[in-house]
Amino acid sequence: MSLVLFNDLTRKKEKFIPIKEGHVSFYSCGPTVYDYFHVGNARPFIVFDVLRRWLEHSGYKVTFVQNFTDIDDKMIHRAHKENITVKELAEKFISEYNKDAEALGIRKPDVSPRATEHIPEIINTIEKIIANGHAYVSEGDVYFDIQSWPKYGSLCKQNLEDLEAGARVDPTEKKKDPLDFALWKAEKPGEPSWESPWGKGRPGWHIECSAMSSKYLGENIDIHSGGVDLMFPHHENEAAQSEAASNNGKPFVNYWLHNGFLLIDSEKMSKSLGNFLTARAAIEKYPPLALRFFMLSAHYRSPINFTPEGLEQAAAGVMRLRNCKIDLDFASHTRKNNKSDFDINKFESELNELDKKFAEAMDDDFNTAAAMGILFDVVYLINTSLKEHEFLPEEFFESSLKALNTYDEILGVIGSDDSESENDDESKEIEKLISERTEARKNKNFARSDEIRNLLKARGIVLEDTPQGTKWKREL
Ligand SMILES: [Zn+2]
Repeated sequence: MSLVLFNDLTRKKEKFIPIKEGHVSFYSCGPTVYDYFHVGNARPFIVFDVLRRWLEHSGYKVTFVQNFTDIDDKMIHRAHKENITVKELAEKFISEYNKDAEALGIRKPDVSPRATEHIPEIINTIEKIIANGHAYVSEGDVYFDIQSWPKYGSLCKQNLEDLEAGARVDPTEKKKDPLDFALWKAEKPGEPSWESPWGKGRPGWHIECSAMSSKYLGENIDIHSGGVDLMFPHHENEAAQSEAASNNGKPFVNYWLHNGFLLIDSEKMSKSLGNFLTARAAIEKYPPLALRFFMLSAHYRSPINFTPEGLEQAAAGVMRLRNCKIDLDFASHTRKNNKSDFDINKFESELNELDKKFAEAMDDDFNTAAAMGILFDVVYLINTSLKEHEFLPEEFFESSLKALNTYDEILGVIGSDDSESENDDESKEIEKLISERTEARKNKNFARSDEIRNLLKARGIVLEDTPQGTKWKREL
C-alpha cells in the first residue's frame, strides 16, 4: 500500500503523488509570535511533524517550511502594551516557541522564514497579482479583487453568494467588495512600516505565506497544512493570491490537510471562557511527551478533548513504552544467552507482521491512533518474551531495540532515558550510589540502604530490585 491523504480540496482520500518524484514540498502555517502558543496550536505542530517524519521514513526527501508571523495587529498591540518594539517581541516569542517545540519533540523546519525579512518578496508577489488584474490600490492599501476570482470559495466549499451574505460591509473601508482582503496596509501612526510602490505600509497576514512558500518551495507545492480554523479565510486567501500571482493555471497546493479542533473539557478554548491554556503551561504540569502522546492518540482530523484524565493516561502510556525500553536494556546486560531455547524466528515474523500493520496505518492518511495501538502490541510482544524466558538470544535484543527505535523516530513518544547513557556524569554518580546501596544491603546496613534510596527518590530516580540486580529509572 502506498500513502493516501485526505485532501480538503476534494474532500476525499487520494493517493499521494508528489510533483517531483522522490521529493515533497511541504508548507505549514506557523505561529504569530505575540505570545506563547496555546495547546490548540500544539496539535498541528505535533501531528504534521509526524507526517513529515513518516514521509522521510518512506524514502522521500522532504523540504518542510514553517513561517513565523512577526508582524500583524496582535503583534503591534502586544508590543505597545509591553512598551517594547515589535521586533523585540518577535525575538522573545520565537525563542520561546523554539523551546516549547523542542520539548515536544517537534523537529525544526528546514526553513523558518519571518514575514518582516521577506518584504521585497511580498511586494513582488503583490505586484504580480496587480499586473494580472486581481488586485487594486486604494489610498495606499492594496486589496485582492474577489470579483475577479471565480474560484474563490473552492477550498472552503462555499460559493461567493453565501460568503457575501455573511460578510459585513463597513462603510469606512476602502474596498470595492466586503470580501476583498488586504494585501498591503497603508502606514498608521506608531506602527512599523516599509517603503513600497504604494507608499509606506506593511503586509497583510495572508500574503506572507504566499510569498514565502513560493520563494522556498516554488509556485506549486505538494502539501500545505494547518488547523481547520485556518481553512477560511486564511488558506482560501493564500490559494487565491498564489494562483493569481503565478497565473500558470496550476493549483497552488495539491494536497490541503487540516487537523480538527482541540476542546478543553468539551468546550472550545477561548480567553473569555477562562480555559485558555498555553503549551508552556501544559508542559509545566504534564510531561511534554505525554502531551505529544495525547495529540497522536486521536486521528488528526477528529476533534480531541483535552482533560486532566486524558493527559494522565497519556503520561502512563509514555511510561509504559519507556519502561519496555529500560527493561530491554537491563535484560540485555544480564540475560543475554545465545543458547536460549527462545524461538527467534517466530518472534521476528510476529514483529514483521506488526511492522506491516504499522505501515498500513500510517499510509492510511497517517492514522497515528492506529499506529500507536500497534506500537503497544509490539511492546506487549517484547514484554511477554521477557517475562516468559529467563535467557534470550542476542538477536532478540537487537530486533526489539531496533523496532522500538524505529517507531520512536517516527512518532517520537518514547524518548530517551538517562539510565541508558553510561558516560553521563550524573548517571555514573547514580550507579555509584546504587553500588554503595547494594554493599550496604549485603552488610545488613538497612539504614544506609534506605537513606540512599530516599536520596535518589528526592532526585526523581526510582529504584527497582530484581534478582539480576538493581534497575533505575528517572520519573517522567
Ligand atoms: Zn499561512
